[in-house]
Amino acid sequence: KTATGLTTFNPRWVRVNALKATLEDSLSSPTFHTFQKVDGMSDMFFFDVVQKCYYQKAELLPDILAIHPSHDITSSELYKSGKIILQSASSCLPAIMLDPPKGSIVVDGCAAPGNKTTHLAALVGSSGKVFAVERDKRRADILEMMVTKAGAEKIVTILKSTDFTTITEGHPAWQASYLLLDPSCSGSGILQRIDWDISKLNLPSSDIASSRPSRKKRKRDENSQESSAPRPEGQEAKQMDEEIQEDDASKERLQLLSDFQVAIILHAFSFPNAMRITYSTCSIHAEENEHVVARVLNSEIAKERGWRVQNREDNPLSRWHRRGSVGELSDLKVSLEEQQRVADGCIRVHRTDSLGGGFFVVCFIRQVDDKDRLG
Ligand code: SAM
Repeated sequence: KTATGLTTFNPRWVRVNALKATLEDSLSSPTFHTFQKVDGMSDMFFFDVVQKCYYQKAELLPDILAIHPSHDITSSELYKSGKIILQSASSCLPAIMLDPPKGSIVVDGCAAPGNKTTHLAALVGSSGKVFAVERDKRRADILEMMVTKAGAEKIVTILKSTDFTTITEGHPAWQASYLLLDPSCSGSGILQRIDWDISKLNLPSSDIASSRPSRKKRKRDENSQESSAPRPEGQEAKQMDEEIQEDDASKERLQLLSDFQVAIILHAFSFPNAMRITYSTCSIHAEENEHVVARVLNSEIAKERGWRVQNREDNPLSRWHRRGSVGELSDLKVSLEEQQRVADGCIRVHRTDSLGGGFFVVCFIRQVDDKDRLG
């Protein structure tokens, strides 16, 4: 239950790791033998919850499955061998939106724990290269484990304890044509996972509320930005999601985060071969989303180098219904018509959309002039 009395059930999302398996192989493996396909998310929760074995293919997202959250998929061979990766559908949007071709060079500028890095590796394949940049040493170690488990070691070069903004001319990553930027944010879109015994589903809401994690723990989760980090295996079972509509982000904190996010994007705008850049957050705040888009588009470097937001219809996620808010782009110094085009190019996911949390993603594009081109 949320503060507004709305209950949101969320499935567990699974991405099939194309470096090790196909969707069809996975569905015909023993792990999925007992599973039954359902047509809609509500069916997954409506049918016998004790069976726990329903799955649904994500409508707009290739290689992504939703399964009932009470099923302990982490004990399966598919999970242990890295053929499937637990990753929320919303966290899969940036790599799909970036859409790097096979064989391309990509930079993941803020990479740990590495869900998007391994997704990128699966998209560029063995002829491609992903430079995964991570400033924090401890988180870079987790990234390394994730990359190894996904079988992506030959594709991914991890730049440990490296600040993305220090990558400049002369560095091999400076040649990248595609960049994925998923910098630290307030995490206000993150759904809190709560250990719920399935037998407690009929408890009154006051009992459910008392099973919330402490405010201190929620704060810790938010700061650690580990919405998509691997969890201890034993905790994966018996979990249901609850949306919490509390928000600790102060205006000052949002301003600091937004300044940092703008700096990361502006640095990416200077990569000489860059053609497409995605920027994403798991935040629901316009300050970290549309406002950041307006600020970077107003910059001198965006104008000099011709960066703009990709048209909605040119992107693989054009059919997703929820777009950016034009009302939050009023600082963008362009016509109202252009503001509307930019808002349409942005994707928003609400916490109630069942994709695994609130999210924002946008793709910037530019034509690369031959005079700019490296190498
Ligand atoms: N993309 C990751 C994933 O999907 O698994 C999640 C990234 S998390 C939201 C942001 C990460 O960026 C953190 O691990 C943080 O340490 C790292 N980071 C923040 N500032 C950075 C910088 N200037 N250079 C490199 N990494 C940075």
